[in-house]
This record gives sequence, structure tokens and C-alpha cells, in this order.
Amino acid sequence: MSEKKQILVTRSSLPPFGEYMEEIRPIWDSHWLTNMGPKHRELQEGLQAYLGAERLELFTNGHMAIELTLQALELEGEVITTPFTFASTTHAILRNGLEPVFCDIEPGTYTLDPAKIEERITEKTCAILPVHVYGNFCDTEAIEAIARRHGLKVVYDACHAFGETKDGKGAGTFGDVSCFSFHATKVFNTIEGGAACFREEELGRRLYELKNFGIHGPEEVSAVGANAKMNEFCAAMGICNLRHVEEEIAKREQVDARYRKHLSGVPGLTLNPDQAGLKRNYSYFPVLFDPEAFGADRDEVFAALAEEGVGARKYFYPLTSAYSAFRGKYDPEETPTALRVSRQVLTLPMYGELELADVDRICETVLRCREGAGA
Ligand SMILES: *Cc1c(COP(=O)(O)O)cnc(C)c1O
Repeated sequence: MSEKKQILVTRSSLPPFGEYMEEIRPIWDSHWLTNMGPKHRELQEGLQAYLGAERLELFTNGHMAIELTLQALELEGEVITTPFTFASTTHAILRNGLEPVFCDIEPGTYTLDPAKIEERITEKTCAILPVHVYGNFCDTEAIEAIARRHGLKVVYDACHAFGETKDGKGAGTFGDVSCFSFHATKVFNTIEGGAACFREEELGRRLYELKNFGIHGPEEVSAVGANAKMNEFCAAMGICNLRHVEEEIAKREQVDARYRKHLSGVPGLTLNPDQAGLKRNYSYFPVLFDPEAFGADRDEVFAALAEEGVGARKYFYPLTSAYSAFRGKYDPEETPTALRVSRQVLTLPMYGELELADVDRICETVLRCREGAGA
């Protein structure tokens, strides 16, 4: 029997080797490796334009963009957020001494349900931290109307929404701040990296200082900052990858279409919804498996794919509110839709270079679970 071809859930996009070599040559000439050098400035300007942001600050990763944004906004008290997200979102709240208040998600988009937000607001609430899950866009209008009514800040975890536009507006233009991740596994990467997009000039000054230990001047440290500066090599990778990101997204669209050809309309499967006015980035291909209607549950499909050498991911599972780190403190049952989705979801391999023949093979394996259920 021949070795089965291994397929991972994602594959980092890289520019041609020579292109990166050219990009980093000036770093050798100048010996300027980090601390907001010329590559940092060039990427900042390029991303500001691409994301449609008025202002943008780069960070060493997406997590620090979120964590330092919450610090820069000088928040205190409770933050209404979703448990259906990556560890980072919840940790950023807790690491700022803030309290996450978990709110349920919409069954269609898996994003924070605006109809459930207001009942969670107390006099301690200071902000809402929603997530554009899998690039599905939050109901920004409803969320921001609630925030205005109650005087709350809105910080989007936009780590899945790089390059998307909603009604022609860039993903970097929503809320008080929208935070992005440029981790190796994302649609656009700087190896590790992230950014915060916002409008207020004063907020930008605070973020700039907070990512550099709170240093205000040569002899003044005015805040308890962290070290979260993007270095020149990461910025250079970003400059190269930004030239190719539209091409990457176009290839992902083909992969998405191929998956849909096999999987849409299959009873018991739920795919990402169509959202009016949304230009997608095809960052992930999540499928919900309803065990009754499909005839096999998520874990069975996961195991069948693993058997075939295909790495799918239970993303996001478990809910952050169910982490052992918080044992007992939060009740995942309070967000029943999020709990169900976390138990039913599997993200299938998705990257520009994924071969369509491999998509066919992955879908065959998925659909075979249904026929062979119980076998
Ligand atoms: C990737 C990701 C983060 C964290 O970004 P890093 O760059 O890995 O620190 C935060 N939230 C979500 C939803 C993510 O997908």
C-alpha cells in the first residue's frame, strides 16, 4: 500500500526566496534590526492603505495588539465577549485585570449575538470585544449602536478578517479599534506579527509607547508597557507577502468553491453563510456536523480524516470559558449556541496552494463517514 499524502490544515504562504533576500539586503547594510526602522514604517503605510485604516500600529503578534489596546483604552471592569474564539481574546481581557462576561453567538455566523448583549450589561461594563469568526463579519451596526447607547468601547478581534471589506469599508475601519494577526498560519503573515487599526491620534501615541516598555522619552517612562515591537525581518516578510496577498485570496476562493461543490446541500452539514456586502478572504473552511442529520459526528469525521493523513482542526474547541485554566469559574452552558457549535465544528484544510484534487479526496473521506456510519 502506498504512503498516504499528508495534508495539514494550513500551509504558510511565502514569497519567492529571492524576493525576500532582496527585501532584507538593506537591513544588512544599515544594521538596523528592530525598534521601528524603515521596513516597519513601509509595512505600516502599506497595511494602513490595504486595510483602509486611518491609523495603524504594528505589533510583535496579534495577541499583543489586543492586549495593549485594552490597556491603552484604560478600561476597568467587565468586557462582554464571546467564548467561541481563540485563547488570545479571553486572555487579553484577563491579563489586563478585566473580567470577561461571556455572551452567546448567532447560529448563522458564529459571531457575538447583538440580541443577547444588552441583558449582560451592568454598571461595571466598559467594553465589547467581538470576533469576526472565520471571516464572517459581526453585525457591526447593531453592536456599535448598543455601545453608543451605553457609552461602551468596541474592540474587534479582526484576526480572521484580514483584507475583507463590508459594504466597501475595510475591516480596519470598524469600532474604536480593530486588531489583526499576521501569524504564520493566517491569510497574510509576517512570520509573527499583528496590528491595531483605529482613528484617534492620542490612542496611537499610547500604543506606540506601550509596545516599547512605556518609554516616552530618553529620560521618561510614563506607563507600564511591554515589549511588543515588530522587528525589521518580520516587516520585510510582510512587505513581500502583501504584494501577493490578493493572489493568495483568489486561490483560496477556488479551494472554497471546490469544497462547496461537494459539500453544499448535504443534509446535516452547515457551511459558512453568504453575507450581503461582504468581500471575503476565505481564511478558513469550517463545517458543522449535525450528528442526527448527517449520520456521523464531528469527532468521527476528524478521526476518519486523520486516518487518511488529513489534518483537520477542532477550531474552536473547547470554548474558552471551558478552559481548565478557569476551572469552575465560568459556565459554558450559559452560551448554548456557542457550546453546540464548538462540539460540531471542524475546519478543513485551507490554503492557496491546496490542490483541488486533494480537496476532492478530503470531501470523499468526509462523505464516506455518512455512508459508513457505525461501520
Ligand atoms: C490568531 C488569532 C489571535 C492571536 O494572534 P497571534 O498573532 O497568534 O498572537 C487572536 N484571535 C484570533 C481569533 C486569532 O485567530
